Amino acid sequence: MGKTIAFIGLGIMGTPMSGHLLKAGHEVIGFDLVESAMEDVVAMGGRRAASSKEASAEADIVISMVPDSPHVEAVYLSDDGVLAGAKPGTLLLDMSSISPVTAIKVAKEAAERGCSMLDAPVSGGQVGAEQATLSIMVGGEAEVFEQAKPIFEIMGKPTHCGPSGAGQTVKACNQIQVAMNFIGLAEALVLGVKAGVDPAIIIQVLSGGYAQTRVMDVRGPRMLEGDYEPGFRASFHYKDLNIIREAARAYSASLPASNLAHELFTAMMANDWGDLDHSAVVKVIAQLSNADLPFEK
Ligand code: NAD
Repeated sequence: MGKTIAFIGLGIMGTPMSGHLLKAGHEVIGFDLVESAMEDVVAMGGRRAASSKEASAEADIVISMVPDSPHVEAVYLSDDGVLAGAKPGTLLLDMSSISPVTAIKVAKEAAERGCSMLDAPVSGGQVGAEQATLSIMVGGEAEVFEQAKPIFEIMGKPTHCGPSGAGQTVKACNQIQVAMNFIGLAEALVLGVKAGVDPAIIIQVLSGGYAQTRVMDVRGPRMLEGDYEPGFRASFHYKDLNIIREAARAYSASLPASNLAHELFTAMMANDWGDLDHSAVVKVIAQLSNADLPFEK
């Protein structure tokens, strides 16, 4: 039977995700702070609400897909937020990428109001959201995960990662690895360029051996053309590197390379490159060595 789902945060990811829920026969009540962001959901057959509180009041399930920890706190904990409107027993699924520390805090407050909450960040990007092939990393109680699984399966492939916060921790791990891959590729290309080797040859050769990565397969050819259209915005990866630093502090993990990645992404923000794809970190590495990227547009 179709459920009533409040979907809060109808941006690049939330809009196609809510579209899949509608297609699967669920009723969707959308809310976004930006009025125009709700137009697509209404066009696809959903309804719009005036606040997170109003959207949640009628819902069996609430899904949120907003940028960062402060937005999630505002969506759930403010006076016109989800916990002010949702009935006890409502299932709460936060799919934003935020700090595990905040995820645990908000889930505790939800439990005090009689609602179960899972953290369920995703990887796979806009294409994954559009094609319903997201990898969904879930933290929370196993029984609640089983309850939510059919809903997650409409949007992608869920994996139960452990207790509350574990989904966000695994997402942070994912973002560490992706940042390292991009920085490694950037340094390889800059060294090659400085030494006079064609960067296309570097990608071709590295792709055939142990150095091959998905990052290089997907973004390498575009980097050679100076194409930094996002993909995944550098400003979002910068946000995720801040989440990683916060989690590392909270759990006493020393992550030297992640801190270096944070500094390189800080340089991207300082150069106003936050709206470029995260592969554009190569521009920072090139700048350090005064390297002329032949693949710059
Ligand atoms: P987006 O900026 O396109 O959309 C976020 C939406 O949330 C916006 O429309 C904004 O108006 C809305 N919003 C913010 N605060 C709100 C509030 N208090 N109440 C209601 N609405 C609010 O971002 P996105 O690309 O859809 O990303 C959402 C989340 O998914 C982020 O945490 C991001 O890191 C994560 N993510 C994104 C991608 C990607 O490729 N874009 C990939 C994986 C994960």
